[in-house]
Amino acid sequence: ATMVKNYDPVRYKTPTGSQLHCKGWIQEAALRMLLNNINPEVAERPEELIVYGGRGKAARNFEALDLIIKALKDLNEDETLLIQSGKPVGILPTHKDAPRVLISNSQLVPNWANWQHFNELEQKGLMMYGQMTAGSWIYIGSQGIVQGTYETFAAIARKHFNGTLKNTLSVTAGLGGMGGAQPLAVTMNEGVCLIAEVEEWRILKRLETKYLDVFYTDIDEAIDKALLAKKQGDTLSIGVHCNIVDLLQRLIDRNITPDILTDQTSAHDPLIGYFPQHLSVEQANIVRQDNPEKYLVLAYESIVKHVQIMLELQQRGSITFDYGNNIRGRAFEKGLTNAFDFPGFVPAYIRPLFCEGKGPFRWAALSGDPDDIRVTDELILSLFPENESLRRWITLAQKKIAFQGLPARICWLGQGEREKAGLAFNELVRTGKVKAPLVIGRDHLDTGSVASPNRETEAMLDGSDAVADWPVLNALINTAGGASWVSLHHGGGVGVGYSIHAGMVIVADGTEDAAIRLKRVLHNDPGLGVIRHADAGYDIAKDTSRTHRLDLKERLK
Ligand code: NAD
Repeated sequence: ATMVKNYDPVRYKTPTGSQLHCKGWIQEAALRMLLNNINPEVAERPEELIVYGGRGKAARNFEALDLIIKALKDLNEDETLLIQSGKPVGILPTHKDAPRVLISNSQLVPNWANWQHFNELEQKGLMMYGQMTAGSWIYIGSQGIVQGTYETFAAIARKHFNGTLKNTLSVTAGLGGMGGAQPLAVTMNEGVCLIAEVEEWRILKRLETKYLDVFYTDIDEAIDKALLAKKQGDTLSIGVHCNIVDLLQRLIDRNITPDILTDQTSAHDPLIGYFPQHLSVEQANIVRQDNPEKYLVLAYESIVKHVQIMLELQQRGSITFDYGNNIRGRAFEKGLTNAFDFPGFVPAYIRPLFCEGKGPFRWAALSGDPDDIRVTDELILSLFPENESLRRWITLAQKKIAFQGLPARICWLGQGEREKAGLAFNELVRTGKVKAPLVIGRDHLDTGSVASPNRETEAMLDGSDAVADWPVLNALINTAGGASWVSLHHGGGVGVGYSIHAGMVIVADGTEDAAIRLKRVLHNDPGLGVIRHADAGYDIAKDTSRTHRLDLKERLK
């Protein structure tokens, strides 16, 4: 076949249906999920193999992609394919219960772990930035983040606004792959969201997929519309085509204080993911290309100003938090010593969930048939009838979430719940109630899979924020347990040098072997998170650990 150097929608179309193109369903699942990641309906920039999150890619380049596809089609059921930063490097003999693919992305020896060295390697074609689910082939479009974002804003509503965001204004920025979930998450909680985005095509994409309601180019008109909606108690999300620093400055000038303030530009990657104030997108792209040093100076200047205004609005009363893009860390690097005066969202809202082993469990229907997801939705509701917020989420998701690529669903499930769901899904496949196997995975933002001191492990009770043994153990135990593919990444979410994290995907193909693996892996994977949080001293985690027989001292008694 001729080498294709660009995204080709025919060549890279995700196979659907019950016909195999590989030698087994696990290899087939890896193939379909890889191609799904770069499907234009799913990925932010398929022509560069960029899935989301700044430059988070699914494969190093098109040559590597073609080779991975070939390798997956050739791979036997007692072999494992090795991927080194997006490039396939070998097929080695293992056994039927071993992962079919092992992935390591963006790993650097700690003393070299910075963007500068990474960029040099990337330019030489030696490395790829895997982000989290981009390089580990389990991204499912913006839905993947919608529920997490929905849960965060719901937690804010419970903590500060009597359970609803009605009559409140949230201000934020970034309508990218992840950030695009913010407007919908706010309106699902009945609030008003004003969101700045510099790239027009991103705004149009979110309007099209119904994540965003309306779109303005004039900042004042957008603010007026937002204030009116807030006053009337309407639910509305408003995109503003501008730089976030301009929007925030305008709010300050008009003496308007948002109720809630955050940000999801890709500030973790100042060169690629953050647009400096006072430059148009076109100008910015030219400066980035011709003079990256200058670009970085301008981007960092804007980031410092951005965080300064966030701190000022926090002083004036906005509930302000870092939404996992390391914007505080970037401002701190350039001397803004009080950048960490507002909290990150994990210690503020998410950690209690992690202590119960809860995290963003997700699955996709390999058949490509949305009806299969409907069947799984019903099953989930019947498995956990007492869980009211789960019911609310599934019902809202069925109404409001447009599928992108392979139909998929996400919901946060905890210790005990995940293995229960996994086994029940395997039964659906075995009994033919769905048309093809189901793929089960999760984000790397999860209870036991990540060390990221400015995000998931910020302000741990015992100060173990930067201890990265946990994600390494997570990848090892999931490999030993027989996950279908396992990945270990560096730098996701917050940028190179700031995080180590692991991914896990497991296929329910309806076989007895799969049932045994599912029971093991979906117990161990969140279990390690419970153990990690109990070890750090969290009472909820200690209780969960005892309930689920994860406590080592009890075991050895
Ligand atoms: P993305 O790169 O796809 O999108 C970022 C968007 O921000 C782009 O559309 C860009 O045009 C816009 N932008 C950049 N600078 C801007 C500026 N100054 N003003 C207005 N708009 C600007 O990234 P993404 O996948 O949406 O992720 C965004 C960030 O959120 C990343 O740092 C990511 O690591 C982080 N993140 C957080 C979570 C979480 O759970 N909190 C999860 C995933 C990602």
